[in-house]
Amino acid sequence: MLHIFICPKCFNYRIVSRKPDAICFHCGATLHKSDIDYVEYIDMNEQERKKYKDKFINRMKMFKEKVEDMITEQEVK
Ligand SMILES: [Zn+2]
Repeated sequence: MLHIFICPKCFNYRIVSRKPDAICFHCGATLHKSDIDYVEYIDMNEQERKKYKDKFINRMKMFKEKVEDMITEQEVK
């Protein structure tokens, strides 16, 4: 089974087979498993891949802000 992973730092796609702890070739960050499956990814064109990537970037940003908010709240106490 091939899985599509995406890097949370430099947002490069990587196709990974089986390995659960995939690492980004570009920056060494631990990759996130995307919910795209391999066949879907192959069928996607450049534009669709970019669109998915943009959505992922937004999700990561929101997640980061949430975590930072939590950290800030803890520091205030
Ligand atoms: Zn990366």
